[in-house]
Amino acid sequence: MKLKATVKSIKFAGSIIKKGGLVAFPTETVYGLGADALNKEAVAKIFEAKGRPRFDPLIVHIADLFWLKKLTREVDERTMSLIKKFWPGPLTLVLLKSSIVPDIVTAGLDTVAIRMPSHPIARKLIKLSQTPIAAPSANIFGRLSPTTATHVEKQLGEKIDLILDDGKCPIGIESTVLSLVGKKPFLLRPGGLPLEEIEKVIGKVAIQSKTNPPDRSGRERAGKTRPTERCQSFGRVQSPGQLLNHYSPKTPLKIIKSLKEIPSGKNIGILFFKKSSFSIKNQTIKILSEKGNLREAASNLFSALHQLDESGVKIIYAESISESGLGRAIMDRLRRASKKE
Ligand code: AMP
Ligand code: MG
Repeated sequence: MKLKATVKSIKFAGSIIKKGGLVAFPTETVYGLGADALNKEAVAKIFEAKGRPRFDPLIVHIADLFWLKKLTREVDERTMSLIKKFWPGPLTLVLLKSSIVPDIVTAGLDTVAIRMPSHPIARKLIKLSQTPIAAPSANIFGRLSPTTATHVEKQLGEKIDLILDDGKCPIGIESTVLSLVGKKPFLLRPGGLPLEEIEKVIGKVAIQSKTNPPDRSGRERAGKTRPTERCQSFGRVQSPGQLLNHYSPKTPLKIIKSLKEIPSGKNIGILFFKKSSFSIKNQTIKILSEKGNLREAASNLFSALHQLDESGVKIIYAESISESGLGRAIMDRLRRASKKE
């Protein structure tokens, strides 16, 4: 069932969460698929509905700092400085978990990922539910994230109790995930809060690379990584955002450096970052931001990919952009969308 988000429908949604049901709800990043984070049977339903492997931990959403203290073992000054500056907002922090967090939420890790969303509907829902809400993106595992209620309905409509509809998500790309459990802060997933903003507050952040993947609980590894340990295989991946074929359209996608790489022919989709004079007949074109604004481009990315995916094109060519600010998260999602396994 899909309902417009109103005081009445949010109350109803809160009662579903309290009873152990599943509610998809808007956040400023993407739509989440929520359940009571402290009820392990309810959380199990998220994994079933999404077809998500159990080793893939979930983000816990809270609306006040009372729950941050309850869910974690320690909150140091570095953590508080980030929270003061960026919460509520698109920043997820990975911290040492307390014993009240069920293992199913964290996939057995000793850490828990926590975020305080700024979206008014998400905040009201969490408050009315009187419990933290575990919520991954409301899509089938590995597929494109939903930025509208219709995206959720198409993928999960039959499998969940309620979808709260509040139109398009304003940021449109998932949260930035930062681990604070190791010596150095570690960026686990670029997202809606640019890395540069975080570094202004806490200094240098370690970034994962093929030779520098974090361990399973988000800490930087000691010593060199052997090639077999690199972030490729499911079992060794520490967080789902790192799975290479995450965020995938069904249609093959190729990232291009120059528009000259686009062949002529039918059934080709093109994803432009900004307006371009380039055009070939019979091609389906989506422009992320006419003026090349990164915020606008991020907010349109998943919608444009959903549309190209449904347009019947055989291949999507996506223009690559510079990896600074939100460009890092956009390129990260495009790279994953381009990997087929
Ligand atoms: P999503 O399914 O889109 O909500 O993605 C969840 C993200 O949360 C993943 O990309 C992980 O990086 C992150 N995550 C959740 N829990 C943990 C944890 N305990 N340790 C590290 N990363 C986590
Ligand atoms: Mg997801």
